[in-house]
Amino acid sequence: MRTLLKNGWLLSSQLGAVPEKVNIVIEDGLIREITSRDISDSDQFNQIIDAEGKFLMPGLVNGHMHSYANFVKATTENIPLEAWMLHIMAQGRCLEPEDLYWNAMLGAAEMLKTGTTCCMDHLAQGLDGLEAAMRAYEDIGMRATIAPMIGDKTYFETMPVDQSLVPSELKTAQPPAVKTLIDTTVTLLKKWQGKDNRLGVAFGPSGPQRCTDELMKECMRLAIEYDTAWHSHVLESKVQEQTAHFLYGKPMVVHLDEIGCLNERTSLVHAVWLTREEAKLAAARGSIIVHNPASNLILGSGIAPVNMYRELGLTVGLGTDGANCGGSLNLLEVMKLAAMLHKFSNPDPTNWITAAETLEMATINSAKVSLRHKEIGKLEAGRRADIVILNPRNSTALQPIQNPLWQLVNSEWGAGVDTVLVEGRVVVQGGKLTLVDEEKLYGEANRRAALVVEKYQKLTTDVEQQSKYLTELLSK
Ligand SMILES: [Zn+2]
Repeated sequence: MRTLLKNGWLLSSQLGAVPEKVNIVIEDGLIREITSRDISDSDQFNQIIDAEGKFLMPGLVNGHMHSYANFVKATTENIPLEAWMLHIMAQGRCLEPEDLYWNAMLGAAEMLKTGTTCCMDHLAQGLDGLEAAMRAYEDIGMRATIAPMIGDKTYFETMPVDQSLVPSELKTAQPPAVKTLIDTTVTLLKKWQGKDNRLGVAFGPSGPQRCTDELMKECMRLAIEYDTAWHSHVLESKVQEQTAHFLYGKPMVVHLDEIGCLNERTSLVHAVWLTREEAKLAAARGSIIVHNPASNLILGSGIAPVNMYRELGLTVGLGTDGANCGGSLNLLEVMKLAAMLHKFSNPDPTNWITAAETLEMATINSAKVSLRHKEIGKLEAGRRADIVILNPRNSTALQPIQNPLWQLVNSEWGAGVDTVLVEGRVVVQGGKLTLVDEEKLYGEANRRAALVVEKYQKLTTDVEQQSKYLTELLSK
């Protein structure tokens, strides 16, 4: 399959510059050539896409999200992380595998239609649910890695509280044993890793305090054996910082390093509360930070010290987190927040994050989360053809055209996304999905989400009781 994408403008960040026009030759899912010379022989190509008057950019990469959360967005308000998790765990128990398929499909639709072509889906479900989500990514044509989100502790064991004080009737169910959790991930991996050049599986211990060291270490041992990534929520909230000292008697990242879980496969999701020493350690080990500013603001978790991370040379990627805590899976909104949020705390404006750096965070840096940074994240010959075509005629944010890159980061919200290619295949055209019936998708999502919420509402009395007790314990 050979495609010619012709007459597209490259995004530039120079005020008033005339955009450079290029032609891109795509073959078997790969960018073969990007050139300004004319390529006119149409016989050579199975498909020709004319991007006259439109901008080209690499597909955005969402470094952290949870597809199960799409059905339950907007079901809670103003609850901090620790109590909010109790609601989310209850909601997770209300989902059938078929729900997981439509949940992932809905999230993938939102991402593709806003210019994201690849995601890391941290998904807490059994094998049937994980496979259902994987099938959704397969069907809609998106590039995705699923990291089954696992933990082997009861919820109160993940908190800095004396377990003997926790009343037995409030304790959450005992999770499966290490072997069962690991076997599920390995089974998924053996079946899906590398499928269609698009799909992958990583190891996803939910958070150090939510797992025994045995589980964390086994995840890393197998991530190395299968040459894949290791992805975990780390120091998202102030409570988690206290928990590290309560459980390990030392900072969380120091503990991770001591048990061999801090290396170039490691992505530390959120990383709001790292000390400078922990950040230095993560930088020395080549680990990556996934910054989720929308989620951290909505849950009141804090603001990650991104200026410090950049100063120390840590790679910072971007994620939306779940739509239930990040508000949406639109990475354009997250780019905006990341670009704006860290100026005030940095007295040197010459060192503020630029639009070009923000785009790097949302592409090549985020690609490192699933170890795809040599394959995607840039428009360059030899990389996979994940390309977004923006039509400035459809977005007031891109009018007038002055500094397109600055406008993409600070102004655009998704209206300009016209055509999206993943692995060289057109999956969005004229702003619409090409492989999935959107009306059917929204119909299924609404019908199924209503049933899930109905089930969840029957559980809220128990959840609120647990939540009340937890809040009292943590305030002591
Ligand atoms: Zn998360």
